[in-house]
Amino acid sequence: MKNVKHLRCVKCNKTFSVEPGIYTCKECGPKGILDVVYDYEYIASRINKKILSESKVNSMWRYMDFLPVQPDGPKPPLRVGWTPLYRVDRLGQQFGLANLYLKDDGLNPTASLKDRPSAIAVAKALEEGYDTVACSSTGNAASSLAGNAAAAGLKSVIFVPGRAPQGKVAQLKIFGAIVISVQGSYQETFELSAHAIEKFGWYNRNAAINPYLVEGKKTVSLEIAEQLNWEMPDWVAVSVGDGCTVAGVWKGFKDLYEVGFISKIPKIISVQAEGCYPINRAFHLNKEFEPMEENTIADSIAVGVPRNPDKALCAIRETKGIAVNVSDEEILEAMRNIGNYAGVFGEPAGVTAFAGIKKAVAEGLVDPKETIVCCITGNGLKDVANGIRAAGEPIKISPSLEELEKVLEKI
Ligand SMILES: *Cc1c(COP(=O)(O)O)cnc(C)c1O
Ligand SMILES: [Zn+2]
Repeated sequence: MKNVKHLRCVKCNKTFSVEPGIYTCKECGPKGILDVVYDYEYIASRINKKILSESKVNSMWRYMDFLPVQPDGPKPPLRVGWTPLYRVDRLGQQFGLANLYLKDDGLNPTASLKDRPSAIAVAKALEEGYDTVACSSTGNAASSLAGNAAAAGLKSVIFVPGRAPQGKVAQLKIFGAIVISVQGSYQETFELSAHAIEKFGWYNRNAAINPYLVEGKKTVSLEIAEQLNWEMPDWVAVSVGDGCTVAGVWKGFKDLYEVGFISKIPKIISVQAEGCYPINRAFHLNKEFEPMEENTIADSIAVGVPRNPDKALCAIRETKGIAVNVSDEEILEAMRNIGNYAGVFGEPAGVTAFAGIKKAVAEGLVDPKETIVCCITGNGLKDVANGIRAAGEPIKISPSLEELEKVLEKI
């Protein structure tokens, strides 16, 4: 990997060479999250916008030069990434937004953005010769890992908290994972998985602990930039749980800026649920985060003890971004809005960013004429119960045309 210089600790700046088995800083422990540092001159000597535009690789692997994996090493075979970026004028007009785009990452193979980091995890596990991968997750990290592992012929062991929606658990079982449903909080689930991974020597796909995962997540930004023909939006809105996704989004834009592909980095809108917003609270109070309860229907971002607060806070601060909290009602409304006016079905955490955009505009934090990209991070079919909650039940009638006419008159 000539494109990678080293790994650097975000706490103490100590550097480490890239070696199998290194996850976090040896001095700082689990809080010493490592960041992959690239040789941008080398990358710029290998790739340019023209070469990219001629690439026939319609997946995240088109950005191989920006990724910390062996260029000709083994990769999981599912097609991850290169999801559509829709200009959604009908949705925008409803809310006075002049330039709105949706990046539909629910169209990934296991239906969430998490396929991007999971594909990297499986590639690294294959590269390093592991036969089993493991993680703890509120759902999508797990289902994407299980799917990509199944496709690549690796075993997966998954720890989920008891509250994970059935759609996600069904995915895990279908992909042949060993699924351990821990009757406790996400924090307790995470800790158990960490101990088990250490004890049994599995490949660790826990986000934040594993420095390569953010690199997978960043491919969403590389795509947004290329799909917008390198004209950067003013804002990119992301729903935030652990904080790894927002950190990845930022890293992607920074990489492109460093190699000279783009001339500005979009501002980040970090969106969390009113029932669980430790990162946004830390941003507003300008303090370290403090744990919070996990009270929201948006299960994928119900993270009371975020694993990657430092990188997430950096992403918001350094881009001069903002942080907004939205209620569960507003999340359900965003689900309806995006479905009704854009034909896209997102899970609650998948549409939370849009609820945040509406609120940021209403509060005057964002100018509705600006260009805004909203990341739809997960598909609504993973959580149909909340889909029905958002949109309601169908009209029930007997098989009679008269009755049909009556109900249609009332609509
Ligand atoms: C994981 C996830 C997020 C948030 O990512 P973090 O890295 O936990 O901040 C948002 N939406 C969906 C659908 C997710 O699965
Ligand atoms: Zn350190």
